[in-house]
Amino acid sequence: TFKAILVSRDAEKKQSVAVTDLTETDLMEGDVTVAVEATTVNYKDGLAISGKAPVIRRWPLVPGIDFAGTVVSSSHADWRKGDKVILNGWGVGETHFGAYAERARVNGDWLVPLPQGMSPHDAMAIGTAGYTAMLCVIALERHGIVPDRGPVVVTGAAGGVGSVAVSILSSLGYHVIASTGRSAESPYLIDLGAAEVISRDELAQPAKPLAKERWTGGVDAVGSHTLANVLSMTSYGGAVAACGLAGGMDLPASVAPFILRGVCLLGIDSVMAPKAVRLEAWRRIGTDLDLQKLASLSTTIGFDGIIDAAHDIVEGKIRGRVVVDM
Ligand code: NAP
Repeated sequence: TFKAILVSRDAEKKQSVAVTDLTETDLMEGDVTVAVEATTVNYKDGLAISGKAPVIRRWPLVPGIDFAGTVVSSSHADWRKGDKVILNGWGVGETHFGAYAERARVNGDWLVPLPQGMSPHDAMAIGTAGYTAMLCVIALERHGIVPDRGPVVVTGAAGGVGSVAVSILSSLGYHVIASTGRSAESPYLIDLGAAEVISRDELAQPAKPLAKERWTGGVDAVGSHTLANVLSMTSYGGAVAACGLAGGMDLPASVAPFILRGVCLLGIDSVMAPKAVRLEAWRRIGTDLDLQKLASLSTTIGFDGIIDAAHDIVEGKIRGRVVVDM
């Protein structure tokens, strides 16, 4: 048997969370079984465990949307026993048993190799949040947003996506403006490479159609009024990568930035991203993310800390990234 977190639902659809013992026969279908060595707590895992949003779509379910570990058995052509692998998304922790167990059985097509020189712990310090931050940076680059064009803003900066985005963008030479609701985290953000820290409140009011141009691009993990303001303050020809909804799923914006300044809104999804895109993002993380900064933006907990961390993250109380060493 092995330890797992199981989220169940009763006849009244009331959700409960328990630590339980499972056996390999309890695992779902898949052609690769992995010994989970490290996982993490993302915002989405917080939503799943707290039940605050309908992330879980199969009951009961082992949550946890990403893990790193070692293949223990495989009938998939790409993977052999002993291979080190990473998994992000693909519905794992939503419709397929996820990371919060010592064993996971998944479709081998969903796995990517652990990059050379990276430990399972490092990979989960990055996790889905960090890999998504990298996808945002790549999207901005594709749009021609280079450091010379001006500052870039990162919202939800002290969170997981935000912290990694600040680190990567500053390493690449961008002037990073970090927006946070936690002013006490300013020194932390400056340490990660932010050139300026602004208050989340500046972007929280209903947005004007257009406002003074403040940045040429952005990474937005917040949505709602924040994203509307970020767009209205983006300079001519700029672009904003939108990946999150920590402040709300709505977008109370106008078309003015798009039609009067040619601003582009770049949508980012990590869950169903094709394998080639994932491999490129993980390769870029290997070259563009300073491992020392990564260590300073992550904290480590054990399996027993997962449920508390899940509740903390939806309350905006987690700084940077949380790694779970199994
Ligand atoms: P996180 O660590 O909780 O970061 C979110 C940050 O947003 C918080 O730390 C906080 O930053 C800010 N925030 C929280 N509540 C807010 C509010 N009500 N108004 C304004 N700002 C608020 O979560 P994460 O794991 O980095 O994920 C961030 C977002 O990206 C989530 O919505 C998540 O679902 C999404 N996401 C999407 C994808 C994708 O594939 N598109 C992948 C990963 C994550 P400050 O304290 O600094 O203000």
